[in-house]
Amino acid sequence: MSEMQGVLVIGGGIAGMQASLDLADQGFTVYLVERNPSIGGRMAQLDKTFPTLDCASCIMTPKMVDVGRHPNIKMLIYSEITKISRAGKKFKVKVLRKPRYVDETKCIGCGICAQHCPIEIPNEFDEGLGLRKAVYVPFPQAVPLIYTIDKDNCIECGLCEKVCGAEAVDPNQEPEEVELEVGAIIVATGYNLFDSRKKEEYGYGIYDNVITGLELERLLSASGPTGGHVLRPSDGKIPKKVAFLQCVGSRDEKVGNQYCSRVCCMYATKEAELVKEHVPGTETTIFYMDIRAFGKGYEEFYIRAEKEFGIKYVKGRVAEILEDTASKNLLIRAENIESGELIEEEVDMVILCAGLVPALTDEMRKILPLPIDDYGFITTAHPKIDPVSTSLKGVFTAGVAEGPKDIPDTVAQASAAAMKASIVAKG
Ligand SMILES: Cc1cc2nc3c(=O)[nH]c(=O)nc-3n(C[C@H](O)[C@H](O)[C@H](O)COP(=O)(O)OP(=O)(O)OC[C@H]3O[C@@H](n4cnc5c(N)ncnc54)[C@H](O)[C@@H]3O)c2cc1C
Repeated sequence: MSEMQGVLVIGGGIAGMQASLDLADQGFTVYLVERNPSIGGRMAQLDKTFPTLDCASCIMTPKMVDVGRHPNIKMLIYSEITKISRAGKKFKVKVLRKPRYVDETKCIGCGICAQHCPIEIPNEFDEGLGLRKAVYVPFPQAVPLIYTIDKDNCIECGLCEKVCGAEAVDPNQEPEEVELEVGAIIVATGYNLFDSRKKEEYGYGIYDNVITGLELERLLSASGPTGGHVLRPSDGKIPKKVAFLQCVGSRDEKVGNQYCSRVCCMYATKEAELVKEHVPGTETTIFYMDIRAFGKGYEEFYIRAEKEFGIKYVKGRVAEILEDTASKNLLIRAENIESGELIEEEVDMVILCAGLVPALTDEMRKILPLPIDDYGFITTAHPKIDPVSTSLKGVFTAGVAEGPKDIPDTVAQASAAAMKASIVAKG
């Protein structure tokens, strides 16, 4: 039998992590490239997960640790692919390791540097609702637990270097180029949220109390910016009436996205339940087009939300949201399309259930010419009988990079992609 080749996995979300673990457990060397300072992807930002309401980090952190400790997984974190070329049946890959300005071999993740850093800027991991220092880890369970200096915001005061007992701070660190040779590639680059600013009628980015579902996940999270308290961004008050708007940027021809994002009905239902759990007595209304509760246990979850938790579902798209400038309350104008009734309702907070858009960039497609659909999701060799191979030989895909999906489907697809990649990479 010929020699087993390595596999490149691009993206360290739940899809990339699962594929990496499945391949590494079979003895393949896996190169996991993640552009952010930690693996984890979007799932790391979630509070609890539907339909069982498992705490996301409780089920994810052990996997992150397994990835970090696996002897067959070489993590190239805070790194970007710069070149991929074919060499016979193999691929030659160039990866740029961005400088963290902190020596990975010395940093012990103690955080003393961040305690002394005088700079505070909005934390991307908290969707801008909380603050982080210029020397930071994105979240406490980060893997690897190594600090990164964000040079764009650093004022070079030198305090972090002075207080670091491990002498890990290295302001002169340079980018490093790594060259790899692999037999197969799995692309698991995941998603971004639809930019809700494009739906001007909802006032996102203008009205303080209009936030996205991902922002609400951070407010619900015990490790989030409010310690798990659901508070209005405008005044820190506890909301008593919260409205959720479905299909923001999904199933919407006007913004060019006709597809269903598949997770928003369920995450709105989950978040409405969680808001009620956190703030008993809160009135929650979900404005929807139809409820798509397709997964195992999802329909039951939705029925329970309505019957047991008293979440109100109104079929109808919201036409516009207006803000009362004094109270910062929001006036929702909608039509209940079942009863024909015109609705004007004042609420304390609005949650926009923004759809999922692909994170795959044009730059990445210049490096690897992946076939994509009209919306930028990767197309597979056959949507039914070969849903993980791409038309590029030896290149596979998994997770939301291929199309919107929930965590169970993402994990299943990642394992399938690992299996397909192993067939090619075993030589
Ligand atoms: C508000 C909200 C709530 C949700 N709640 C649930 C829930 O309760 N239950 C559930 O089943 N699903 C839920 N989901 C869906 C869930 O988030 C996804 O199914 C899951 O995160 C998909 O994982 P992924 O690995 O495909 O993508 P991602 O999590 O997006 O991971 C992709 C990774 O790839 C990295 N990356 C991207 N481009 C590159 C590149 N060029 N080079 C290197 N790295 C790159 C990214 O930085 C990221 O780490 C929710 C979604 C939202 C928006």
